[in-house]
Amino acid sequence: MFVQAEMNEALLSEVRKKAMAVRHEGRVANYIPELAKVSPDLFSLSCMDTNGVLWEKGETEHLFTMQSLSKIVALSLAIEKLGTDTVFKYVGMEPSADSFNSLMRLEMSSPKPSNPFMNAGAIAICSLLYNAYGEDAFDEICAFMEGMTGVYPSFSEEVFESESKTADRNRSLAYFMKSVGFLHGDVETFLNLYFKQCSITCRTRDLAKLALLLGTRGICCETGKNILQKETVYTLLGLMTTCGLYNGSGEFAVRVGVAGKSGVCGGILAVVPGRFGVGVFSPALDAMGNSVAGLRALELLSDTLDFRGLALRK
Ligand code: GLU
Repeated sequence: MFVQAEMNEALLSEVRKKAMAVRHEGRVANYIPELAKVSPDLFSLSCMDTNGVLWEKGETEHLFTMQSLSKIVALSLAIEKLGTDTVFKYVGMEPSADSFNSLMRLEMSSPKPSNPFMNAGAIAICSLLYNAYGEDAFDEICAFMEGMTGVYPSFSEEVFESESKTADRNRSLAYFMKSVGFLHGDVETFLNLYFKQCSITCRTRDLAKLALLLGTRGICCETGKNILQKETVYTLLGLMTTCGLYNGSGEFAVRVGVAGKSGVCGGILAVVPGRFGVGVFSPALDAMGNSVAGLRALELLSDTLDFRGLALRK
C-alpha cells in the first residue's frame, strides 16, 4: 500500500543540508554584474500547503530579484488583459532546446519566439503590455503580483541599472524582432519594462504563494478570492511543465515531476497541485541557468513526498 509522507521540520533541515552540499557544482550568474555580488552560500526554502500553513528553512528573509520568475506574472497579466489568442500571436507554446537568451532560432526559423519564457518571448510580452498600458505597465505588473501573493513588491534599482547597462544580448533580440517587422514601436521602452520586471524583488515565501495559487486553479487559499481564471492557470501550468526550466525542462519533469519555473537569480518555484506551493532560492547555477541547490532540494522533496506519483493517485 502507498503511504503518503508528510511535510515536517526534520525533512526541511535534511533537504537544506543535502542541497547545499552540491552548491559548489554551480556558479552565481555574472553576466549581470549586480547578480555576481550575491553569496553562493545563501539558501531559502518555503512551502505553503492548501490550509495556508507555511514551512520554511534557511535565510528566508533574504530578498532577491525575480529575474525570469517575473515572466509568470507578466504572462498571466497579458493573458487576463488581452486574451490567449492575442498573446499567442506573439509567442509560441513550444519548448526550445536553446538557451534562454538564444538568438539563433529567431533568424533561422521564425521571429516569433518559441515560448513566452525565452527572453525574446518575454520581451514580446512586454511589448504587448506596454502597448496596452503605456507608462503604467510596470505598476500594473506590480499590482498584479500583489493580487497573486498578497504583497505589493519592491524593486531593485541597482539590479535594474546593472542589467540595463549590460543587456547587449537582450537588446539584440529585441532589435532583431523589430528589424523583421515582428515588433513595432520603441523597443527601448519594451526592454526597459522587461528589465524592470526582472528587478522586482521577492522572498521564497512569495514564490510559494504564487505557486500555490496556480496549484489551486487561481483561488487564493487564505481569502477564497478568485485571482486568476482557470484557463490562465492551465495555460501557465502547461508552459511551465514544458518550458519552465529552459533546456533543463525535460530533466526537471523526470526528476521533480511537477510544473516549475526558474530564474537566473537562483530562484525556482514548483507547483504541487492541490498540496503545496514551493519556492526555493540558492544563487549558484548550472550551465542552463537553473539553481543547483534549488534543483536538488526540489528533487529531494519530490522523492520524499512523492510529487511524481500525484497523477497516479486516487
Ligand atoms: N534578466 C535576465 C535576462 O534577461 C533573466 C533571465 C533568467 O532569469 O533566466 O537575462
